[in-house]
Amino acid sequence: MGRRKKIVQECEKLMDNPEHIRNIAIAAHVDHGKTTLSDNLLAGAGMISDETAGQQLAMDTKEDEQERGITIDAANVSMTHEWNDKNHLINLIDTPGHVDFGGDVTRAMRAVDGALVVVDAVEGAMPQTETVLRQALREGVKPALFINKVDRLINELQEGPQEMQERLFDVISDVNELIRGMTEEKDYDWTVSVEDGTVAFGSALYKWGVSMPSMQETGISFGDIIDMESNDQRQELHEATPLSDVVLDMVAEHFPNPLEAQPRRIPAVWRGDADSDLAKQMREVDDDGDVVFMVTDISMDPHAGEIATGRLFSGTIKKGQELYVSGTAKKNRVQSVGIFMGGEREDLDRGVPAGNIAAVTGLRDAIAGSTVSSVEMTPFESIEHISEPVITKS
Ligand code: GDP
Repeated sequence: MGRRKKIVQECEKLMDNPEHIRNIAIAAHVDHGKTTLSDNLLAGAGMISDETAGQQLAMDTKEDEQERGITIDAANVSMTHEWNDKNHLINLIDTPGHVDFGGDVTRAMRAVDGALVVVDAVEGAMPQTETVLRQALREGVKPALFINKVDRLINELQEGPQEMQERLFDVISDVNELIRGMTEEKDYDWTVSVEDGTVAFGSALYKWGVSMPSMQETGISFGDIIDMESNDQRQELHEATPLSDVVLDMVAEHFPNPLEAQPRRIPAVWRGDADSDLAKQMREVDDDGDVVFMVTDISMDPHAGEIATGRLFSGTIKKGQELYVSGTAKKNRVQSVGIFMGGEREDLDRGVPAGNIAAVTGLRDAIAGSTVSSVEMTPFESIEHISEPVITKS
């Protein structure tokens, strides 16, 4: 059996158990390393070869390339990761890296419960870091921080352990100041910290990463990192403390699963009757409930036509269902339902249950932002775009 097929089977097993699902986005200021990090995660999950990760050339594994001749473009992807002796399904949604696509970033945030914010260690928090944080927090999406390009502090800026730690501390303080300012009225504290394990740092280019829990486990110190980076032992560093493991462990441990996230998020994005059965089904991620699907993106497939991707808050979407689409009078018939494995969709005849990101064809009237449901219902709040001046890539 091909590796890809095994991953699909593994994902299928996990998608029925919301406790083991994490729906996440990676968001960053342009050039801070979102693409390179995504490649690392895909390689860590065995979806692309280790050698190609970090070169922004997300190719499929050799085995599958021969089998199917496909290329993964790291758009939306489901992968599995073992943490705490349990396998987890990680649904990763890509967000555009450019400020002028801000609207899409907000839409992606509606589908996820955790946002991995990537910040370049040299540049620190930039305007778009602030924007993506604002978008995440407004949607009730929990942030965690990855400080990237730490290799540059060592090799270009020649910083020692003390300077490096001070700089990383400054980046964390700046990010926390932004988070604090955006969550003043909330009753939870979503600031990030090294001690809690909600901050990791490393080099997406050289594929190593560390966090407090990982350093405790591997015994690798800042001094070791500096020695190995400067002595051209990056491959050893990667093998000793692979970035994908460190980041995916952080995701599994600190991002909420749908059962934890939906009771908090539903009241924030839906103004329907909180005492209704539908509200209860959404809060409880009830896969036997009515279908409630929020479309966050429409893409074109040359064979299947328009694909509506989004978050399924309740029920199970299956082929052949007739569903209401908000803002239109007629029902649409579901042609196929699947999950994304990289740029490729994998149809699942059994359907996709609540708590997951689903890719659906046949919803002809749906647009990004549509509420799709098996019963007539109050649609979700519209997704507000946060606009800001366009900053061009230098
Ligand atoms: P994105 O715009 O956020 O997706 O950023 P990319 O992943 O495309 O990276 C932007 C540039 O930074 C590319 O030239 C990468 O090779 C480089 N880059 C990414 N991660 C690192 C890193 O950890 N260290 C160094 N030195 N360069 C990196």
